Amino acid sequence: MQIRRTKIIATLGPATDPQDTLEAVIKAGADVLRINMSHGSHQQQLDRAKQVRNAATRVGKEVAILADLQGPKIRIESFADDEVTLNNGDSFFLDTSESPEPGNSDGVGVAYKELHSDVEPGDLLMLDDGLISMRVERIEGKRIHCEVVNGGVLGSRKGLNLHGGGLSIPGIAEQDIADIPRAVEMEADYLAVSFPRNAEDMHQARRLLRKSGSTAALVAKIERTEAIENLAAIIDASDAVLVARGDLGVEIGDAELPGLQKRIIREALKQNRIVITATQMMQSMVVNPIPTRAEVLDVANAVIDGTDAVMLSAETAVGKHPVRVIEAMNRVCLGAERHCDTREDEQTLNVRFHRIDQAIAMAAMFMATNVSVQAIVALTESGSTAQWLSRVRTSVPIFALSELASSRRKMALYRDVYPISHVQQWTELEQEMRQALHSLVKRGHLAPGDRVIVTSGDALGVEGGTNTLRLLQLGPDGKVEHQSELDMR
Ligand code: PGA
Ligand code: MN
Repeated sequence: MQIRRTKIIATLGPATDPQDTLEAVIKAGADVLRINMSHGSHQQQLDRAKQVRNAATRVGKEVAILADLQGPKIRIESFADDEVTLNNGDSFFLDTSESPEPGNSDGVGVAYKELHSDVEPGDLLMLDDGLISMRVERIEGKRIHCEVVNGGVLGSRKGLNLHGGGLSIPGIAEQDIADIPRAVEMEADYLAVSFPRNAEDMHQARRLLRKSGSTAALVAKIERTEAIENLAAIIDASDAVLVARGDLGVEIGDAELPGLQKRIIREALKQNRIVITATQMMQSMVVNPIPTRAEVLDVANAVIDGTDAVMLSAETAVGKHPVRVIEAMNRVCLGAERHCDTREDEQTLNVRFHRIDQAIAMAAMFMATNVSVQAIVALTESGSTAQWLSRVRTSVPIFALSELASSRRKMALYRDVYPISHVQQWTELEQEMRQALHSLVKRGHLAPGDRVIVTSGDALGVEGGTNTLRLLQLGPDGKVEHQSELDMR
């Protein structure tokens, strides 16, 4: 049976709250559940995290929780009647004074109090993910007078972007500093930083996270113009990056998105980082029971570009078909993976290694593409070997056996990696490997006659200590029959 290599992230919300729906979402293939900290109360977010852990235990699957910080997202304030209709050519003002009146069709307040000094006449402001746009005409004190370019219905608290970027708002907002300990309380495995400008924003988030006592991995959401200018450094400062096509498309214009998506994925893989492709991937399924053909092609193209994961936002959080959309994504990923080119990527052959575990991982992948093997088995503590292994695209599954639940959950996001709980039983590596393979045969992951590569450290249970690679053959009884060794001690 073909197993899906690309991972699926589903955003939680009212649509996934019923217990049976959440379980069905995980069963249908969600590997990571995203809790958006821009919505819901703290208690609601905590409850959702708890429900995920319970559902995952019942389903018997390792899933990760991704807590997504709100970031310095600029929003308009509320309207007296919750929404207004704007027509092309209408005048409309944005007011940054401390407590403006509730908005109406003449104008509305803005929560970001510096906006009037950041914009100038001629600038194009994009509201509600670019659905509505207006051009700045003049600024009077704290009031920005605009002319509506593209009208529509504008609801309360919708987002606002400046086309072309350049707002001076900081990368880590006050609210984020308060929210980081909350994400830690939720025992999030990943923390996503929204709107980082540069590597320093990621370093700051990491310091705050570690100070709160969490070992969660950090995701940089690439969604503003400044982040593109500092892309390599941001990736270096992060564990994973997310192509946040919603805000990014609004800031840089949709025509730049396809090229940027490919560039971000390529750069992340080159730097041995994880990469997620997000936003509107199957948007029509918020309402419809099947995706459009364009959406099918979009998901498939992200898979072919080499993304680790594809993400669903409103489709699962508030959509009518939260389970069906995951089934559709699962199906489309599997289909695309049958046509991926998985030849050894030439770039990786020229890389100089600084770490033994990285060299072992690369040797394993080289071997896997040149000797036919059915699986790679990594006995790993922190999961770092599995991460190295998964950066090279082959069609060989990587079973990552770890004692640590926190490592296993993180690995749920890595393309090609299947985390499996494994309690170490032997002090001798030889026996431990036989035991590991035996348990994989019992679980149906390996079959008699399979040839597998096993990586491990000779000192078992040491983080980052992988230094051994073995090529093993299972006999007709499923037991290890023949072995050769490549030892780099
Ligand atoms: P959001 O980020 O869903 O938190 O806005 C993703 C994006 O902007 O694409
Ligand atoms: Mn965004």
